[in-house]
Amino acid sequence: MARPDVTVMGAGVTGLACAVALARRGARVAVADPGGVGAGASGGVVGALAPHAPDRWGPMQAFQLQALTAAPAFWASVAACGGVDPGYAQVGRLMPLADAAAVARARARGAAAADRWGGAGLWRVVPAGDGFAPVSASGLLVHDTLTARIAPRRALAALAAALRALGGTIGPAAPDLPAGAPVLWATGAAGLADLSTALGQPVGGGEKGQAALLACDAGDAPVIGDTGLWIVPHADGTVAVGSTAERTWDSDGPDAGLDALLARAAALVPQLAGARVLERWAGIRPRAATRLPVLGPWPGRPGHVVANGTYKTGFALAPAVAAAMADLILAGRVTYPDAFALAAPGA
Ligand SMILES: Cc1cc2nc3c(=O)[nH]c(=O)nc-3n(C[C@H](O)[C@H](O)[C@H](O)COP(=O)(O)OP(=O)(O)OC[C@H]3O[C@@H](n4cnc5c(N)ncnc54)[C@H](O)[C@@H]3O)c2cc1C
Repeated sequence: MARPDVTVMGAGVTGLACAVALARRGARVAVADPGGVGAGASGGVVGALAPHAPDRWGPMQAFQLQALTAAPAFWASVAACGGVDPGYAQVGRLMPLADAAAVARARARGAAAADRWGGAGLWRVVPAGDGFAPVSASGLLVHDTLTARIAPRRALAALAAALRALGGTIGPAAPDLPAGAPVLWATGAAGLADLSTALGQPVGGGEKGQAALLACDAGDAPVIGDTGLWIVPHADGTVAVGSTAERTWDSDGPDAGLDALLARAAALVPQLAGARVLERWAGIRPRAATRLPVLGPWPGRPGHVVANGTYKTGFALAPAVAAAMADLILAGRVTYPDAFALAAPGA
């Protein structure tokens, strides 16, 4: 490959999605990651792509809605370009409702969704039914039709294949660059720690999360969500269960916290009781101090741009982050919320 127009540091979902968007708009892109594709938080198993509750609204919620509505076309084009299926499907989500107060709140949220989602999806209260669904003390569930699922590792493989089909490269080290050539830093939790050091202010760091993959064929059943618990049926006869959230931890691997989560999942969805655990996995999420994505120029480092801090929603946000970074790097246009930008030291 000739000298790249843009170098992307980090081959997680953020870096690869940005690389594909840049390449699709005509840039020559080289991705560098010493760990290889999916070495960080993106190498997991869950893949829920869900909207925020529609009654709490701000720049993050609007950006995420943009990402979710862009997702069907984004992932279809990635699949078509590289020939690898990312396992995306807009299957919706079911959530149990514990009592009358929760039902009333859910109905109010349905009205907010009708207002804010602009017809992209519904948030409605439905009777609990048979099949692969959560038990619900009230006998009622929330059904949102906007939520989708994706198979994280297949999504990474699909992005990598699409990038290569567009002439991009992925390797362990960055090529030599002339000063001023654009470099996009999508380096996850380590990158947020590096930024904190470089800028002398707490930009963010990591948060451990754990998940498991179970042998259970739920077909195209909806994603199931409850507080801190995601149950995500995938097309290959597996169901993912996630995710713990630990701000401090002794080991980077799965631990007893995951056992507790699996017990909760089996109590919520009886079909999961006794399902064989195929894999236990843990990763370190990129968590910004603001808990918002961190997008835009790296203050004091001309030509360097950051795409990070996607925290619990890197797969959900990828289509919008990728489009925003291509807008910024190739057209100089800021199409992400100001609240995501990095402040210069002392600003
Ligand atoms: C248990 C768990 C469950 C999750 N579930 C979901 C979910 O259901 N839906 C969802 O949308 N999101 C989910 N997430 C969050 C999602 O995984 C993250 O938001 C996303 O993976 C972040 O992607 P990234 O590319 O920014 O970072 P990472 O995937 O961490 O990638 C960063 C990459 O940068 C590389 N790197 C680091 N330093 C350098 C350097 N100096 N030079 C070059 N490369 C470098 C690393 O090797 C790594 O490959 C979950 C996370 C966890 C842990």
